[in-house]
Amino acid sequence: MGLKVYVSGQLVEKDEARISVFDRGLLYGDGVFEGLRAYGGTIFRCRQHVDRLFDSARAIALTIPLTEDKLTQAMYDTLEANGLSDAYLRVIVTRGVGSLGLDPFECRGPRLIIITDRIALYPPELYETGLEIITAATVRNAPNAVNPRIKSLNYLNNILAKIEGLQAGVIEAIMLNSHGMVAECTGDNIFIAAGGALATPPSHAGILAGITRDAVLGLARAAGIEARERDLTSFDLYAADECFLTGTAAELISVVKIDGRTIGDGKPGPLARRLLALLRAEAAGK
Ligand code: PMP
Repeated sequence: MGLKVYVSGQLVEKDEARISVFDRGLLYGDGVFEGLRAYGGTIFRCRQHVDRLFDSARAIALTIPLTEDKLTQAMYDTLEANGLSDAYLRVIVTRGVGSLGLDPFECRGPRLIIITDRIALYPPELYETGLEIITAATVRNAPNAVNPRIKSLNYLNNILAKIEGLQAGVIEAIMLNSHGMVAECTGDNIFIAAGGALATPPSHAGILAGITRDAVLGLARAAGIEARERDLTSFDLYAADECFLTGTAAELISVVKIDGRTIGDGKPGPLARRLLALLRAEAAGK
């Protein structure tokens, strides 16, 4: 039995899951998405992800054709139909089929797609050694253009930075905003630890408000670790004791080299290790 994909109310075989070439998601990246993760059959911070999806949709004047509860049910149904309990989920809402023109209000109704898959993790040894990354020249979208808080189907801004990283031989890249401040990585948020305190760029820096980021901020504060949202420069990263990235798939992974500068002692640091353990404990429901 092959993988089953949810397409607008029906679970269909992967090879039968199709959308039109006139779908606005394809023609213009006109739609929104979410990436979620289930641990032992429970979707981590499900409500927060569903809220973020609905907020993204509202921001682009797109009405999701299901209630939050029905959408959540559809995600669990898709997991169950595939016999998956530890999995990655991708929820996609496109504006649907329209004409070739730009007018979004001509569309015949949004399409909702739910795909479950194995989790695409960074190689396990990278959690031991830490990542080397670079700063990309591609600037993160300005919040007054396409706000990075919208998890839209158009990820070209991020993909351009990812290409820079890959061409430089690394798998993630830092993006600065148009003021030259640190924003985030192409698919992960970024943190530093300095003097025992954590810092991460604020949402006005032009970032996706990551749910793992939010979880880490909360877990750190609950553990008595000072954790602040503040503007960061490249200098702050280079001079930090520790640096790490957070995201649904990556969870929390240390960065040990940025633009050729060794961070701290060049190994994953104690705060990163402690917070990864706390994050995994929360995900496991402990
Ligand atoms: N920033 C970007 C650009 C992302 O695409 C993601 C999600 N892959 C993140 C940050 C991390 O967000 P979350 O913790 O909600 O997965």
